[in-house]
Amino acid sequence: MKYQIIPVTPYQQNSTLLICEHTNTAAIVDPGGELNLILDQVQHHNVTLESILLTHGHLDHVGGVAALVKQLSLPVYGPHVEDAFWINALKEQAEMLNFPPSESFTPTRWFKDNDEINVGEELLQVIHTPGHTPGHVVFYSAADKLAIVGDVLFNGSIGRTDFPKGDYHTLIDSIKQKLWPLGKEIDFIPGHGPMSTFGEEMRSNPFVGEDGQEALPFCS
Ligand SMILES: [Zn+2]
Ligand SMILES: [Zn+2]
Repeated sequence: MKYQIIPVTPYQQNSTLLICEHTNTAAIVDPGGELNLILDQVQHHNVTLESILLTHGHLDHVGGVAALVKQLSLPVYGPHVEDAFWINALKEQAEMLNFPPSESFTPTRWFKDNDEINVGEELLQVIHTPGHTPGHVVFYSAADKLAIVGDVLFNGSIGRTDFPKGDYHTLIDSIKQKLWPLGKEIDFIPGHGPMSTFGEEMRSNPFVGEDGQEALPFCS
């Protein structure tokens, strides 16, 4: 599976184009906005966009969904239904963050833990990873040893947990019990910033690494 990371919105959120090279079809993970940048890459890679995949309901990750659906009539998969309250509040999220107006939408399908979803002939596993938001999911390709983790884990940090229905210990459990067992060699694309591997974060991440104490994320 090929991928192209496309940072969008003032939050430089990593939208990721996942490409099945057998079928020349693709899915876009978290089209948060700036659809022109995303559609440029679709054209550049000469692929047909077949679906939208969502990690969680925050505006910088889903702000472009309604407009993209209107334009291309794509199915929307995810996140877990517990993030419905975030998606229903997109208008308020946009006003609060001074983003362009964004419409709510109803996903074609909500994910549950252990669901599977295809991108062309490529298979992704869906892992429910609450903590940053209650309905956050991670997409995992065993064949490519690649995970798209949204705002669960970053290179050197973890997601915020001070939002409604966020929970620090739940997030730590999601990382340690759902992500680490996938293996040290797994490359991951975070929702913001540069890529890393689970092994590197297991070792050096100040919040979930062996070297670090369990630091509280808001005391720096
Ligand atoms: Zn988020
Ligand atoms: Zn984010």
